[in-house]
Amino acid sequence: MCRRLTLLVAVLAASFCAQPAARAAESISPHAVVEAVPLSDVKRTEGFWANRFAVNRDRSLPAMWQIMKGTEYKPFLVNFLIAAGDQDGDYHGAQWNDGDFYKFLEGVTATYAVSHDPRLPAILDQSIDAIGRAQRSDGYIHTPVLIRQRNGDPTAQPFQDRHNFEMYNMGHLITAACLHYRVTGDDKFLNVARKTADFLDATFKEPTPELARNSVCPSHYMAMVELYRVTSEPRYLALAEKFLDMRNIKLADGGDDNQDRIPFVAQREAVGHAVRANYLYAGAADLYAEDGDDALLAALVPIWDNVVHEKMYITGACGALYDGASPDGSADQSQITRVHQAYGRNYQLPNVTAHNETCAAIGNVLWNWRMFLVSGDARYVDVLERALYNAVLSGVSLDGTKYFYVNPLRQVDPLPTPLRWSRTRVPFVTSYCCPPNVLRTIAEVNGFAYSTSANAVWVNLYGGSKLSIELNGSPLKLTQTTDYPWDGRVRIAVDQCPTKEFSLKLRIPGWAETATLRVNGQPVDAPATPGSYAEIRRRWKRGDVVELNLPMPGRLIEANPLVEETRNQVAIQRGPIVYCLESPDLPKGVRVQGVTIPTDAKLIARFDPELLGGVTVIETTALARPSGDWSDKLYRPLSRERAREIRVWLVPYFAWSNRGPSEMSVWLPRQ
Ligand SMILES: [Zn+2]
Repeated sequence: MCRRLTLLVAVLAASFCAQPAARAAESISPHAVVEAVPLSDVKRTEGFWANRFAVNRDRSLPAMWQIMKGTEYKPFLVNFLIAAGDQDGDYHGAQWNDGDFYKFLEGVTATYAVSHDPRLPAILDQSIDAIGRAQRSDGYIHTPVLIRQRNGDPTAQPFQDRHNFEMYNMGHLITAACLHYRVTGDDKFLNVARKTADFLDATFKEPTPELARNSVCPSHYMAMVELYRVTSEPRYLALAEKFLDMRNIKLADGGDDNQDRIPFVAQREAVGHAVRANYLYAGAADLYAEDGDDALLAALVPIWDNVVHEKMYITGACGALYDGASPDGSADQSQITRVHQAYGRNYQLPNVTAHNETCAAIGNVLWNWRMFLVSGDARYVDVLERALYNAVLSGVSLDGTKYFYVNPLRQVDPLPTPLRWSRTRVPFVTSYCCPPNVLRTIAEVNGFAYSTSANAVWVNLYGGSKLSIELNGSPLKLTQTTDYPWDGRVRIAVDQCPTKEFSLKLRIPGWAETATLRVNGQPVDAPATPGSYAEIRRRWKRGDVVELNLPMPGRLIEANPLVEETRNQVAIQRGPIVYCLESPDLPKGVRVQGVTIPTDAKLIARFDPELLGGVTVIETTALARPSGDWSDKLYRPLSRERAREIRVWLVPYFAWSNRGPSEMSVWLPRQ
């Protein structure tokens, strides 16, 4: 369909459906198949995510607020106070620190939506007040430039350097403000966002080629679409479209690092900086939900296939390379440019040197969530779940206060080459984008758990929770009880429901090959096919109980033989959890690199309440062989030293590096 015509249809549809209320947005995406459920409609009761949410609220959030107040490390909030004229000083920090602050506020807002913690509004009010007063009267807001202007530097002007991350920062401001409005109904932050968007609208009316290149790490596509949903203002949707189209104005200067070597709609492969890439894909999927432009989906689906079948780690992590060149090996040498923190070539998935920025995994979650909303296809939730449990959670310590910027799948000591970024978790990273991104993601996990469509409730992610929504104008309440992801038995009780027939759609994960379903103890005639939603359509009544059983045996997984770094190796996965072998769990004198796994190994799952805050470990018998002296050797005759059997247990990958410096590997040689 013609893009402009589709836009008109979308705008008309939106004007009928949208109301300027805190929950207006759930029904205004004309090309979405599934609708999101507001965060506050899902209450975590017990279990894995209830525990993670509590750590996020009680440990991560207060510790991050201390950092955000500028008491240590970088100023964050203080930059806004200086820009507002409350304090004197210069700007300190990375160019994207404003965006980090907004992501923190989004996390606080999401936490408030679910917990109504009375301590949180004061944090939000104080911060939003400072942001509002720092904002220029024309709507421009970016404290590195505002502070230089205030200090009399006439050269400080908006959008002078695309690597100032102004769009990225403003995008996060708008996203945080939209959530704040949805949750509180208070429009003070939203008004700041509207002023910001109006500034962008005026500034990019007729963008010069130089202006058009300001799309580095594009959080602003998602943001503008969200602002359109919340306000029903068609200018914001048109601006989102313009932002995406404007990437094509000066392609001659583009490159794969920023995904602007060729027009987005011509792209079929995931390339370049993995955070920027995944944010771009998520934003394009958001745009498709509103304007239905088939050209967007024609790019997104093959790019997704490329990521999932050729470029994604078993953990759901993205971005194999610290640094590289792309398109790598191209016959057209003039097209090759430098990339960093980037997708590599197909099947290039190194373990020790994997970059895998936590934000890229979060981008993968955001993208797959949007692909699910526009398709209703369970395969996107499979990837979302894989990334969430493994590559996102690995980015934060179990106590919620220390972080990884990179998430390798193997750690050796010493490293084969010096690599940037800490290999132990740290409270502050110079590039502080990941910690507040993790904070907001964990705070918003509730939003992924359930969704709705016409006459159906979808259960996407399992976990102890209560759902309270309206379906077709009638109250619907469900209680879910489960020990997922440690146990695959899920019980869903209907507490209240519409009298008319409706469907309950339960996600059967791709790994769940022998799932069974019962209603009130009786088997149901609904195919529980892995990688799909099992639909139970009936006239429900209060007291009905659905029992889903997702048997989750520990499994040895092998990779496509084209992945050279994992040839003849296996990983262990149980349910959605990917495991690793970590040195604190090995007998004295045995190193991770000396351990092999027999292919007939019996894998026994055992919940250990004392270990790592309570996790299910996988016990097995492995073989250990001393690696011997490799100093000054690249090659040597094969060692004939006999292996000995050892008893080992593997821990969830997300929980590694919580016991001090260690060696670790997800992939182990098979015997
Ligand atoms: Zn990051």
